[in-house]
Amino acid sequence: MIKQSFDNFSDTNAKGLTRKSFDNLLSALLVNEDNKPYHIPIQWKTHLFNLFDTNGDDIIDNQEFQQMWNNWIHTILEPTSALIVVDVQNDFISGSLAINKCEAGQQGEEVIPVINQLLDTIPFNKVFYSQDWHPSDHISFYENRTLRKFSSIEGKCPSNVNLYDTVVFEGPPQTRQKLWPNHCIQQTWGSLLHSQLKIVDNSVFIYKGTQSHIDSYSVFWDNQRLSQTNLDQQLQGLGVSDVYVCGIATDICVGYTAVDSCQLGYRTVLIDDGCRGVSDTAINQTKQQLDRNLAVCVHSNQVYHLVTGSDRRPELAYKMAIKQLDH
Ligand SMILES: [Zn+2]
Repeated sequence: MIKQSFDNFSDTNAKGLTRKSFDNLLSALLVNEDNKPYHIPIQWKTHLFNLFDTNGDDIIDNQEFQQMWNNWIHTILEPTSALIVVDVQNDFISGSLAINKCEAGQQGEEVIPVINQLLDTIPFNKVFYSQDWHPSDHISFYENRTLRKFSSIEGKCPSNVNLYDTVVFEGPPQTRQKLWPNHCIQQTWGSLLHSQLKIVDNSVFIYKGTQSHIDSYSVFWDNQRLSQTNLDQQLQGLGVSDVYVCGIATDICVGYTAVDSCQLGYRTVLIDDGCRGVSDTAINQTKQQLDRNLAVCVHSNQVYHLVTGSDRRPELAYKMAIKQLDH
């Protein structure tokens, strides 16, 4: 297949792909599920050609084509995909930190039919479920604020600090923390995954926020990046190229997980209707940040085509080629 593709796209006189024939290859490669080519920015085309033309002679020769195929095209045609279902837990849906009481007024339980439908119909290579899993003396609980020395970021007297304010705990390590109601305390009803959420065979559970002194929004890292879960290690072990993220809350644990996924080099997809969030402003900011990191945000009805490699997005392809980090 590699040789046939090389022969199809190469220019016989040039003994390889010129910039023009490379453009033709991109138009055949990066298409939607109806085989319609996506628009690709000209600077991306130039950058990609320069990356794959490793000897800089302005031709992608047979050897360079094989490397490009093995390192890039192969994954675009046959990605290895993992779904991360973030924190679909009782406390965030109808318990102590139910997001429907937050500013955006969204209903957490609405993610469940969307996620169950995905789990029933999409051939993900692996499914992970994360759970916020706090000890009762956790630093993020408003009720625990007096257990540690802190100052308010707004200069308030400590006794006047309110729920949802952000404070700085002295530490060490010094820790900036938003104060939430008690939630997802280990082994309590609130920390359980919602009973209607489908759990698929051979899935993996990841627990986060398990240490008293530090919070963890991302399923990969704690908020200070001092320690990580084994999610990245497991994804690498499975050869996962593409990470799909959904769950609660879009602008907090889902968003932090998706941004970390991008920064760790995964092609990252946010399943928009499979998420619900806390604040409209922060939800929009999260989407913009993901956009800058070359993640894509899609409706769940697009996921099948992406996972099976029939919808091949330029953002994800470019991302893989450059492994761009947005710090
Ligand atoms: Zn938490």
